[in-house]
Amino acid sequence: MKTEKVDVLVIGAGPAGSVAAAIVNKYGLNVKMVEKLKFPRFVIGESLLPRSMDAFEDAGFLPALKAKGFQEKFGAKFVQGNKKGNKICDFNFSDQHTKGWNWTWQVPREDFDLLLAEENIKMGIPVEFETGVTDIQFNGSDSITTVVDKEGNQQQIEAKFIIDASGYGRVIPNLFKLDRPSDLPPRKTLFTHILDTKRNSYDEPNRIIIIDHAPGIWIWVIPFSNGYTSVGFVGKPDFFEKATGTPEEQLRQLIATENHIAERFENAEFRFEPRTIQSWSVTTEKFYGDGFVLTGNVTEFLDPVFSSGVTLAVSSSQLAAHLVGRQLAKGETIDWQKEYFETMMQGVDTFRTYVNAWYDGTLQTIFFAPTTTQSIKNQICSVLAGYVWDTDNPFVKKHSTAVAALAKVISYETVES
Ligand code: FAD
Repeated sequence: MKTEKVDVLVIGAGPAGSVAAAIVNKYGLNVKMVEKLKFPRFVIGESLLPRSMDAFEDAGFLPALKAKGFQEKFGAKFVQGNKKGNKICDFNFSDQHTKGWNWTWQVPREDFDLLLAEENIKMGIPVEFETGVTDIQFNGSDSITTVVDKEGNQQQIEAKFIIDASGYGRVIPNLFKLDRPSDLPPRKTLFTHILDTKRNSYDEPNRIIIIDHAPGIWIWVIPFSNGYTSVGFVGKPDFFEKATGTPEEQLRQLIATENHIAERFENAEFRFEPRTIQSWSVTTEKFYGDGFVLTGNVTEFLDPVFSSGVTLAVSSSQLAAHLVGRQLAKGETIDWQKEYFETMMQGVDTFRTYVNAWYDGTLQTIFFAPTTTQSIKNQICSVLAGYVWDTDNPFVKKHSTAVAALAKVISYETVES
């Protein structure tokens, strides 16, 4: 069997894998990526947050991304209401408490992920597509990984360090039984890409909209620059039982019940048969070990409502890649618990508070309040922009109490007025 030696093996060519490989490469280490699928491939996760731009910039991807002409995203609009009246909460990323990027993109992921992988190839990093990891043996921090290509040929890769960025594939958690159930309840989505020919008759046609459809049920509307718009319903699995027929018929029935999108997408062409994903929240017992680190979705995935997935994925890769670089290229001793695990959990836990507050209605009390102090809105805006490591922001530092306390004050004020 063929054996190859590298410093760092990156598993998975999603955004987490591509960012990790490009940054490790900057340390002069010998890095290789293996990807199970043929690219371009579909994956969900199309609305980015400004914090992800820091990671793409660090990885050297921004010039190529800018040249591609993806739909620019300057904020997010949350809406609630019916024919009697709408409530709107509009966040503009230029109104932020935290200094940072104030825009990002909405992207069809098959194009986006392919471009990132190609950028890695241009940097001289070998990327082997249609080559999946089937086994890993650790000997201290050194490892031997077995990969199998599409012809069934096996190959072994000896690495000093593995970055597992295999997303929903969860390679190391599956091989070493590290999965832990999430504390979030199971949720389901039904979604497709819709040819959005009427978008220009609507206000701000290219803006992402999150529609608070019913308690615990919301809809994403994510316009792309290619003329299609991604539309998905998300909620408790039993919500979807009321729709009948084929997936297309079901999604059309649901769209017809929501005033904000019924007319815009009536009879519009679907790019593919609507797909379902269910019970996506998952976490992992540990994020690192001797000779490996998990980045991206493999660590923990919460919920899509605040578009935090890719941002957490690439931020974890950015951090992990620098730690790997410092350890292997500079010989530094890294405190992985403090510098990686605790840092990542700070961001994940901040988002977890906001996800829970969205599903229990606390956040809607804040978002759709008749008035909100601008400085408070700016602080929340920075969280929604992905700047969840800025502990100068009270809505990051004290996230677990600040959101609930603000909603309580608003509720009292609303009752009294
Ligand atoms: P992935 O993008 O999944 O990439 C992992 C790669 O690893 C894949 O290409 C896979 O083929 C490869 N791989 C797997 N197993 C192996 C193996 N054995 N060997 C080699 N390669 C392997 N996030 C957002 O930021 N914005 C959103 O709007 C958003 N919406 C979402 C909606 C829903 C319904 C869900 C469920 C998620 C959403 N997400 C969103 C989250 C987003 O999908 C993920 O966070 C993101 O794709 C994670 O990127 P990643 O690079 O970690 O993993």
